Amino acid sequence: MRIAVIGFGAAAIGLLERLKDSNHELHVFEKSNDIYSSSISGVRSDGKLFVSNEMGGEIYIDPLLQRRFVDYYINFTEKREVETGFSFASEEYYRKFYEKGFLPISSQFFHIGTDQLKEVLYNIYNQFGKSRNIKFHFSTLITELKEVSDGVLVNGTEKFDMAVVAVGRSGHKLINALIMSSPQIVRNNTKVDLGIRYELPNHIVDDINREMYEFKVKYKSRTGYMVRTFCNNPSGFVVTENYDDFITVNGHAKMHLKSMNTNFAILVSLVLTEPFNDPIGYGSYVAKLSNLLAGEGKVILQTYSHFKESKRTKNLYRVQPTLEPDKYILGDINLAFPRRIIESIIDFIENLNTVIPGVANNDNLVYAPEIKFYSNRLNNQVSSRLKFIGDCSGATRSIIYATAHGYLMAEAIEANNFNVDI
Ligand SMILES: Cc1cc2nc3c(=O)[nH]c(=O)nc-3n(C[C@H](O)[C@H](O)[C@H](O)COP(=O)(O)OP(=O)(O)OC[C@H]3O[C@@H](n4cnc5c(N)ncnc54)[C@H](O)[C@@H]3O)c2cc1C
Repeated sequence: MRIAVIGFGAAAIGLLERLKDSNHELHVFEKSNDIYSSSISGVRSDGKLFVSNEMGGEIYIDPLLQRRFVDYYINFTEKREVETGFSFASEEYYRKFYEKGFLPISSQFFHIGTDQLKEVLYNIYNQFGKSRNIKFHFSTLITELKEVSDGVLVNGTEKFDMAVVAVGRSGHKLINALIMSSPQIVRNNTKVDLGIRYELPNHIVDDINREMYEFKVKYKSRTGYMVRTFCNNPSGFVVTENYDDFITVNGHAKMHLKSMNTNFAILVSLVLTEPFNDPIGYGSYVAKLSNLLAGEGKVILQTYSHFKESKRTKNLYRVQPTLEPDKYILGDINLAFPRRIIESIIDFIENLNTVIPGVANNDNLVYAPEIKFYSNRLNNQVSSRLKFIGDCSGATRSIIYATAHGYLMAEAIEANNFNVDI
């Protein structure tokens, strides 16, 4: 078959790995100008690989397959040097959190780090370049995919037997256009995670950072909302993330450059019910309101005590932000976030303080907004010629899950069996 692969990110890597040197002719269309400007979003930004059955996506991926892809990425680094660790391997820690109402998330982590990622992507690309059946087309933004009787028309011109869409979250325009023309491909869309990034000195969380690389827990707060930690960065840095029309906070950690602080996200999961059906719109509005208060291109920073008391922060005390000074304004997040979300976050931090004393110190730092959007979950059973893999399908949220999803789709293509629910 002649197959068009749209996007060259983590999911496409899994697909190509399985189909390289097969009888299929694979054409990869990537909007970035070249491999140097290409952006497997997560592979470029942080590169924490993990093996877990409790996070990473909405589908089941065999842990052995997950581990195989962890090794796959590590093998493309020059020195094969990674930080690694388990979350909640120790029963003592598991019990400590469990007793206080937390649900500890078990997983194994491998941190490649931002610095090593460029070469990983470049090396993978070079290896695929050697396969006779893979052709890369950079600087090619795909805006239209149209099913015709015997194939799929790409950008209204070239016809392929099938197209596998692997455009990640940044490809939302193409996905939205496809949903507009075929609404039946959507399964559901009701979720958004809204919250803050929390930053505190390393020494408060040293024990837990030593014990586990990535600390992940969930907690049902007294508001009824589920709250979770996400993306813990020991000795890391807070950064901003640009969306088309608003800015959010994020965090990352580097292999070599270290800070004195740890940051992690605290996110409240909202599941909106009828008549609301636009969680992305809701999250975007809250983000825009926060940006409006902070001023153009900035996020809000507040100390924890002021966050709790709903007072504007004017000065900081012992904890100094790792976010660059021109990217934040000292302010009051309570002016932008709904009360139930703020209460859920405070309840979470106060409870966490009973397990890790110092987490609720007055001068710890709160940044907002941090938002995680969930893509529409797409149905791969609707069309035999148009398939969706990775984050754009709504089935995955991580590098390893996206890569494995691509791989499983390739297996289905090879077996010509699409009855499996992927
Ligand atoms: C800031 C950040 C940090 C992250 N950190 C981690 C982490 O540490 N660990 C982890 O497991 N996950 C992380 N993630 C999530 C992870 O990046 C994704 O889950 C994963 O990359 C999804 O793979 P994908 O192939 O679906 O999409 P991507 O890897 O995003 O690839 C999509 C590709 O499609 C291209 N594209 C988009 N639209 C078009 C179009 N219309 N035409 C042609 N090409 C197009 C894009 O340029 C891109 O190259 C992070 C995400 C972000 C945003």
